[in-house]
Amino acid sequence: MFKPVSPKVDFIEIEKKILEYWEKSGILEKYLQRNRNSKLKFSFLDGPITANNPMGVHHAWGRTYKDLWQRFFNMLGFRQRFQNGFDNQGLWVEVEVEKELGFKSKKDIEKYGIEKFVNKCKERTLAFAKVQTEQSQRLGYFMDWENSYYTLSDENNYMIWTFLKKCHEHGWLYKGRDSVPWCPRCGTAISQHEILTEEYQELTHDSVFLKMPVKDKKNWFFLVWTTTPWTIPANVALAVHPDFQYGVCQKGQENLILLKDLQAKILGKGWTKTKKLKGKELKGWGYQGPFDDFPRLKEIKHQVVLDKDLVTAEEGTGVVHIAPGAGQEDFHLAQKENLAVVEAIDEEAHYLDGFGQFSGQNAKQHPELIINYLQEKKADFLFKVEKYTHRYPVCWRCKAELVWRVVDEWYLAMDELRPKMMAVTKKIKWLPEWGEDRELDWLKNMQDWMISKKRYWGLALPIWECSCGRFEVIGSQEELKTKAVQGWQKFEGHTPHRPWIDEVKIKCSQCGQLTSRIKDVGNPWLDAGIVPFSTLRYRTDKKYWAEWFPADFITESLPGQFKNWFYSLIAMSTVLENTAPFKTVLGHASVLGEDGQAMHKSLGNAIEFNEGADKIGVDVMRWMFLAQNPEQNLLFGYQQANETRRHFHLLLWNVYNFFVTYANLDKWQPSSAKKKSANNLDKWVLSELNLLLKKTTQSLEDFNAHQAVLAIDKFVVDLSQWYLRRSRNRIGPDFYQTLYEVLVTLSQILAPFNPFLAEEIFRNLTEKESVHLEDWPKAEEKLIDKRLSERMTLLRQISEGGHAQRKKEGIKVRQPLKKLTVNREIKPEEKTILKEELNVKEVMVKESKGGLKVELDTQITPELQAEGEARELVRQIQDLRKETGCRLDQKIKVSGPAWPKDKKLQDYIKKETLTTDLLSGSVLKIIK
Ligand SMILES: [Zn+2]
Ligand SMILES: [Zn+2]
Repeated sequence: MFKPVSPKVDFIEIEKKILEYWEKSGILEKYLQRNRNSKLKFSFLDGPITANNPMGVHHAWGRTYKDLWQRFFNMLGFRQRFQNGFDNQGLWVEVEVEKELGFKSKKDIEKYGIEKFVNKCKERTLAFAKVQTEQSQRLGYFMDWENSYYTLSDENNYMIWTFLKKCHEHGWLYKGRDSVPWCPRCGTAISQHEILTEEYQELTHDSVFLKMPVKDKKNWFFLVWTTTPWTIPANVALAVHPDFQYGVCQKGQENLILLKDLQAKILGKGWTKTKKLKGKELKGWGYQGPFDDFPRLKEIKHQVVLDKDLVTAEEGTGVVHIAPGAGQEDFHLAQKENLAVVEAIDEEAHYLDGFGQFSGQNAKQHPELIINYLQEKKADFLFKVEKYTHRYPVCWRCKAELVWRVVDEWYLAMDELRPKMMAVTKKIKWLPEWGEDRELDWLKNMQDWMISKKRYWGLALPIWECSCGRFEVIGSQEELKTKAVQGWQKFEGHTPHRPWIDEVKIKCSQCGQLTSRIKDVGNPWLDAGIVPFSTLRYRTDKKYWAEWFPADFITESLPGQFKNWFYSLIAMSTVLENTAPFKTVLGHASVLGEDGQAMHKSLGNAIEFNEGADKIGVDVMRWMFLAQNPEQNLLFGYQQANETRRHFHLLLWNVYNFFVTYANLDKWQPSSAKKKSANNLDKWVLSELNLLLKKTTQSLEDFNAHQAVLAIDKFVVDLSQWYLRRSRNRIGPDFYQTLYEVLVTLSQILAPFNPFLAEEIFRNLTEKESVHLEDWPKAEEKLIDKRLSERMTLLRQISEGGHAQRKKEGIKVRQPLKKLTVNREIKPEEKTILKEELNVKEVMVKESKGGLKVELDTQITPELQAEGEARELVRQIQDLRKETGCRLDQKIKVSGPAWPKDKKLQDYIKKETLTTDLLSGSVLKIIK
């Protein structure tokens, strides 16, 4: 006897019970140990999850993939590492701790104390690592949770030191001065990698048209446009395009110089064109700026320069404001043209000294300062102010609007590495295929990698810099200990983080002075990119490393990772070993709300993981993720979840429920005898099962979950809506044995996809310990019968044709009809199937060429009508049996207003509904 199954299934309840069972019976431990002596090996490398918040449903997508393939290879007998990773260091953690503590700026952190602050960061990330572990377990994710890796670990940090030292030996590590995007709230530079498309917001700013007086030409002005008025005090030059046509427009005394084609649009009426000038004729012209009386601008000689890239004919006036201290392209132009660089703001965006009344005021918090000043004091310079909406970059962490500052930062030079990294990228199998082009495209266009951040919690960059200009890169803690001349005792026993590491001083190898570590911490993608080395014991056990490197497989969400994780993995592996760190990468798109918008609390479309797990159930969630084409964004919500449950999980559950209920009723026991049923439906379903097994195996080997799920889905529909329905009148040992085999094998196939439902079915049917300790089933070629498959497809097409005709003519399936005519040869056994499916008395074959023709004789004789009515009564009584809670084998009496006259039909009703007596009464009613 099997454990009875309830048709009113609560999948979430089942999941919770199974979690308890796994825990109690040590199933995870047995699963992890299962293949420890196997010769086969599959190396999976986990991309660390940011341990800064609870896990979201978008994380669950990638984690479901990870679990799917590790489970699949485990069932196939491959030895594996099941190491989960947590990403702990970086600005993302700092910003959350700052919020917690109510801090507004870096000054608050310094006041609070770096040590206390860093400890808070550690605490936070370790606490969330714990939360995420519990959530992952709820997802059914089988990992060696006790042995997760943490990017804050000493090994991870020191391994990056080794990497940076190697870069330094190649001459690739340098300190550069550049204009960089800067977050005034976080007080740090933002690297090119961190400005993703989603880090731009549609913002409206005041844009200004300025009149800059031309030197030595009375009443002549350049008309200049800028969308960032706060940068006007840093103006040193104007750029024009050498080949563009400029013109002078006059109104009264005033003469304005701007692009000829834009004059009408910008100036409006009342202006006369007086002169034409080619851009190159303007080269070297001098002009005055509105703030030339400020001390910082005293020495500045404003001039016009030529540039083909910055000047466009579409926007502005064709005369471009150049502020090298406050813009990246401007800075590069200044280097080319040897222009002065006027720095305007400090790290919180306050104007520096030497800007008169602006000094000490905040440029981003008070953008109106400049415009107000121009209006009140320098009205001659102001032509007009207009609102302007544009896409403007914001900080990826705190969403403050970015500014540009010229600062010293540390970089890895990429020019020598670039071709090597491109070669490595081409060796990797990218899924989807276009991933390779995206990565190559990024590598082609990326600049040098800025690796420093002026922050507190992160990798301590191992650079000790001397005032003489010499700097030293330390490759390990041993090396540091040897070179330390001061502070080692204070550092010893601590992790290699600020502030402890900053105690250690070494001697400059050039001038002998005592030197300190630079204050900067590292870019967090260094932390994640090093894991193929740090977690695989590269520094301590090369044999182990060589065994597991490169990874066979990684999978992560696509957006951003081309610039981030994939990039840093490839960069670091190219430097250290000049080879690919992984063989295959599967990327997937993003999770959106059901309304197609990004999930957001304020839109009401966000679902937290725990909430989703408790309302949807994780098997349904996993099925949604795995069914999705990974290239497309997944619309995730309760409606989608309900449909998935109804179309797949409940369908399968109903087949399983049917099997257990009737097998128990008949006291049927599975037999180990190998003799198979000779029935065509049984032979067919076993053939389809083995085809499914082959297809699923192939799809999973190709890392294509989507295709596997489609195949399983289709099989379950066939099983329920054809095999089971067509077998209802032939329930018996052959049917039980066949369906039993189908359900057991199907639960094994399902195990990596839906670990809970698979476990529930498998354990009840087999009484074995766990489906997750089973082997992946092998397809039996001899059971695959392509010809039978084709015949069954034909029968189903005929049935669909017949059902379509009934629907068109409004005749219920319950109403028997006389005859079906088809133009294909049909075997006697097949005729039986068609007769039952289409409820006809006879199947006639009328051979004719051409497409399939199906025709029902729809004439209803009085006899056929009486039979139809009897069938209708059977249905009504069956419904009543269910409603009144009759046991399946319970005999009943029924009263009703009208029974068929025909004794045969009465007997038919009695037999179908287990009724002993048909009594007369005013309404149809069961008398128990
Ligand atoms: Zn910020
Ligand atoms: Zn020195």
